Amino acid sequence: MIFNLNDTFNKELPADITQENSRRQVYNACYSFVTPKQTSNPELIHFSDDFIQEVGITKEDAQSEEFLKVFSGNKVLENSHPYAMCYGGHQFGHWAGQLGDGRAINLFEIDYNDKHWTFQLKGAGETPYSRTADGLAVLRSSIREHLCSEAMHYLGVPTTRSLALSLTGDQVMRDIMYNGNAAYEKGAVVCRVAPSFIRFGNFEIFAARQDNETLKKLADYTIEHFYSNITSTGKQKYLDFLTEVRNRTIDMIVHWQRVGFVHGVMNTDNLSILGLTIDYGPYGWLEGFDYEWTPNTTDAQNKRYRFGNQPYIAMWNLYKLANALYPLIEEVDSLQAILNEYEALYLKQYEAMMKQKLGLNTKSDYSSLVSGIEKTLQLIETDYTIFFRKLSLVTKNDTPASAILKISDAFYNEEDLQKESKKQWSSWFAQYIETIQSLDSTDEERATRMNAINPKYVLRNYMAQLAIDDADKGNYDLIDELYQLLKNPYDEQPTYEKWFAKRPEWARHKVGCSMLSCSS
Ligand code: AMP
Ligand code: MG
Repeated sequence: MIFNLNDTFNKELPADITQENSRRQVYNACYSFVTPKQTSNPELIHFSDDFIQEVGITKEDAQSEEFLKVFSGNKVLENSHPYAMCYGGHQFGHWAGQLGDGRAINLFEIDYNDKHWTFQLKGAGETPYSRTADGLAVLRSSIREHLCSEAMHYLGVPTTRSLALSLTGDQVMRDIMYNGNAAYEKGAVVCRVAPSFIRFGNFEIFAARQDNETLKKLADYTIEHFYSNITSTGKQKYLDFLTEVRNRTIDMIVHWQRVGFVHGVMNTDNLSILGLTIDYGPYGWLEGFDYEWTPNTTDAQNKRYRFGNQPYIAMWNLYKLANALYPLIEEVDSLQAILNEYEALYLKQYEAMMKQKLGLNTKSDYSSLVSGIEKTLQLIETDYTIFFRKLSLVTKNDTPASAILKISDAFYNEEDLQKESKKQWSSWFAQYIETIQSLDSTDEERATRMNAINPKYVLRNYMAQLAIDDADKGNYDLIDELYQLLKNPYDEQPTYEKWFAKRPEWARHKVGCSMLSCSS
């Protein structure tokens, strides 16, 4: 395994002068050098057989002792200098001060095939930023992160990637539901990979400490390496930066809404400055279409991070980023102007995306069909993924009644479809069928377009939980089955048809399926 190492973050930005790995406030530095923890009995459970090739690793390499050692934290590559990043963040709407990589350790950066990648271990032991926690991760949340990162990538959603998942052989104590029932669980490490893991919170910490010098260094570094299309100088450069981050963030959120992904903890430390989905914790997939739904029990009261609120929260977070960049710009109006455009830009992209989901021409105005389906989907519990996938079966010759029949698999309980809701479904379909009749494209063409944007397979919460239950017993087959399935989420895969199904009833209120906490 030979990498073309090209560390930049830990070469170009200021390091913590203290090398001791003790929990503390770290000032005037973007990171602290740390060494991953040696684990007692590392075992590779799964690697991403496609993604390894994107970073220049062969299958033979991935099965080597060296791979396991490096990506479980047991061997530091020569000439690499692992480090944990310093960042802050707003958690659930409140400034939380210094957070930082409490259990993430960046190993090294490489160049491969004109791409730049940073490798990071999650769960590899404590760092100066571990605060009161242990720096470790458990198997269940590591499986969730590993599978979902890759699934999101193949869905076309910007995301950090996951290279490999290993057991550490160490036990980790967790209180899953924070109710006093702590127990030992298997420890695990995920190696995740992205161009960079910089978050909004990396900027916020320096602004909060009025450390404008480090703030500027970090902003210049980020722009130079990851926003090299920005050519302006002076204040304009940072304004353009905010504009670009805003655009990438909008793009990411529109994708989330398209596939029904609910992040669960959109704190500013969990928003990537590159507009990538990052930090897969108590996330969940929408089953019944419901704007109010959140998988995160820690947020059950306020539902701040519910499905329908994600676009608003992303904007809220961009306000915090704009505040953090203010010292580099010192012009409120210019910053405000960028933020003011957020809503209109988001709505425009969202509408276009919904029209595509419906198989309609993106240039025409179909706002009443779009708002109509949003309302109709909420009348009775209707599966988001199955509805849109089955919608492609509806043809110009259908009647509202025959169309309803075609999508009826999406209803969790068809008996809920009473007089009133049936009337509303019929009236939406009447409008929809009339609209598709007016289109030039054939039913087949429309179906092909729709099936390229409406996934057939997503990582439903219960599916990940089944893989976790098996893995707990030492059987990892389902992890690979789901990984292979989710590589082609838009394709018909007859052998995997069983995964194109509604959430089973047993999973409705089960911990890990519909109820997840931040404990991981
Ligand atoms: P999260 O809610 O996962 O985004 O985490 C918020 C902060 O807590 C980040 O700084 C994490 O690095 C830190 N953190 C979460 N879990 C642990 C852990 N087990 N050990 C150390 N730090 C942690
Ligand atoms: Mg986080």
